[in-house]
Amino acid sequence: MKAYLSKSLVISLLALCIVGCSSVPVYMISWQAESYFVTPDTEGKKWESLGNGLYSYQHWIDRSLIIDTPEGIVVIESFNEEMAGELKQILDEKFPGKPVKLLVYSHQHLDHTRGGHVLKPLEVIAHKNTRWHFNHYSDDEVLKPTRYIDGSTTMIFGQHRVEFIDFEHGHAEHLYGFYIAEEKLLYGPDLAFCEALFPFGFPDFNHYGHVEALDQAANLDFDRFISSHFNSGDKSCVTGTRDFFNDTREAVLNGFEEHGLPSDNGTAKWFRSIIGDTKGALDDKYGDWHGYDEMSLPFILRQASGAYLGF
Ligand SMILES: [Zn+2]
Ligand SMILES: [Zn+2]
Repeated sequence: MKAYLSKSLVISLLALCIVGCSSVPVYMISWQAESYFVTPDTEGKKWESLGNGLYSYQHWIDRSLIIDTPEGIVVIESFNEEMAGELKQILDEKFPGKPVKLLVYSHQHLDHTRGGHVLKPLEVIAHKNTRWHFNHYSDDEVLKPTRYIDGSTTMIFGQHRVEFIDFEHGHAEHLYGFYIAEEKLLYGPDLAFCEALFPFGFPDFNHYGHVEALDQAANLDFDRFISSHFNSGDKSCVTGTRDFFNDTREAVLNGFEEHGLPSDNGTAKWFRSIIGDTKGALDDKYGDWHGYDEMSLPFILRQASGAYLGF
């Protein structure tokens, strides 16, 4: 079976080479993306009660947090127009006549902030450091914050005290996490995944800042981690992600020590050593994580460039 598979793979690759060998990496990336993003867990849409007026809504790989209060609904993350439209429909059915009183953005990335206008929130909040980015987005695509806030802060939403945890210098310009102590629950958009790799090397992050954020989160007392992407889990999502980041960076730095920094001598060999040795150091511990086969290489490359450049 294996021989047959590898023979058919070679034939496919040869067939592609007739079209043009330069297409092969493009096809490979497209197949990797397909198997990473399309899984049984990311199919369909899921409205889930987390108890005491807390809910989550999952559409494809994305998950919003929803808080029901007497004065209206709080939504954290709108993601995109399609998802926000479905969520609005659910909210109108479950909470007739209740407005979305507040939309909160954890950070400015467009994959989290499109489609807010569909929810018709009375107020939109984001961190002040993200203002510059929001000012550059089109009004059609992104509903602009009506209020910018700063630092860690606590807001009362109905029966819940929600702590906005200030994660600086990690992912994006600025990142908020949302901690509800009495529920022992942390909603950590783009902070950690549960035994899954971030897509394509984890765009827009600083390794040291992000590990600091993960340490900060790990010090909180919680046993439910609600993830903005893929599955949710418990605190091990945070500590596991932190270990994966640290183990990858450590292996890359060990490679730098053994093979030096890249120079005009033996560049290809240098890359093969750094990437191959790092992958070898991670395979056993993380090989069964979702997306390892598809996304470990981009992550190692991103960690290598970060280690070389100092971020
Ligand atoms: Zn992001
Ligand atoms: Zn995200």
